[in-house]
Amino acid sequence: MTEQQKIEAIVKQVLAGMQGNATVAASGPSIPKTSRVAMLTAKEHFEIQEYPIPEIGDDDVLVKMEGCGVCGTDAHEFKRDPFGLIPVVLGHEGTGEIVKIGKNVKKDSAGKPLGVGDKVVTCMIFKDNPDITMFDLNKQNVGGADVYGLLPDDDTHLNGWYADYIVVRKGSTIFNVSHLDLDSRILIEPAAVLIHAVERAKTTNILRFNSRVVVQGCGPIGLLCIAVLRTMGIENITAVDGNEQRLDFAKQMGATATVNFTQHKGIEALAGAVEASFGGYLADFAFQCTGSPVAHANIYKFIRNGGGLCELGFFINGGDATINPHFDLCAKEITLVGSWVYTLRDYATTFDFLKRAKAIGLPLEKLITHKFHLADANEALQTNLRQDGLKIAIIP
Ligand SMILES: [Zn+2]
Repeated sequence: MTEQQKIEAIVKQVLAGMQGNATVAASGPSIPKTSRVAMLTAKEHFEIQEYPIPEIGDDDVLVKMEGCGVCGTDAHEFKRDPFGLIPVVLGHEGTGEIVKIGKNVKKDSAGKPLGVGDKVVTCMIFKDNPDITMFDLNKQNVGGADVYGLLPDDDTHLNGWYADYIVVRKGSTIFNVSHLDLDSRILIEPAAVLIHAVERAKTTNILRFNSRVVVQGCGPIGLLCIAVLRTMGIENITAVDGNEQRLDFAKQMGATATVNFTQHKGIEALAGAVEASFGGYLADFAFQCTGSPVAHANIYKFIRNGGGLCELGFFINGGDATINPHFDLCAKEITLVGSWVYTLRDYATTFDFLKRAKAIGLPLEKLITHKFHLADANEALQTNLRQDGLKIAIIP
């Protein structure tokens, strides 16, 4: 073919495509006919199944999955099905690239332009009020909203991020996060939990730049908590955990001191170690990031009179904790806030946090300790249940 013929062929192809797709959604190259999903068909059992990729509607977006974090919630559902969702395609900490977009979808939920090739995350689905924007969200919390990855199976099947493709439907929140790398995008959902917790903590008016802050629990949530505090300029952070490797991570995330609770017998000795870590002072503020009732009871002893506490470790019911309301709360005048999940507003703040964390050199990507292919979803969840790593991710 001569140059001229080549060009003519290309033009012909483009014109044919334009005619054929005039009223159809814009799409990128080569979308397969089917998509794999990891369907949880029984407790502790994913089955890789294949479903047709449906024609998407004018308000829908087809996203090719690039990565999805494994959450504690996924692990609970995998092990015990407490939400009664089986069969279900899990995965709500996902991100990917738009490969097809309905003609009515022009912008993301923050008003940014959206198109084929953009990298996105989803947040919530507001069935009752599809017009809701993130700026209305202070009036609403997560009640009444659904999340991809925790939806019951239906005829579309492509409802969670443990899949090659996901169909993002009308009424969903979707954000253009093309400016963030893949690892940062995988961390958006868990990081939003911490942005929300710190926003809750700020309502106490106790948390300040020069506060002495203790973070108890150095799983992904506690470590992200330290990173958020460090990124906002808090310099005096003591991490408490029982695992030396996690405490090392805490230092990399910005903790200035660490206390290994296994090395201190009894709560008095432990509180003494926390006090010593701040040079002889108790903490002004504490974040409780474990799901352990004993840890909740203990943390009051780390806080000074008039200090504050944000409890965010109990995403699900972890049992009752025993405290002494006189000594722990009243006599010390502790201000306590609880924190649960996040709002859409926190999501946008999270994108900026991830950029800033990178800019000050926090190695957040190290939090993702394992990556498993979709076909190995069972192994990914088992690894999470064994608590072998920190954040585990599923990739195609
Ligand atoms: Zn999660």
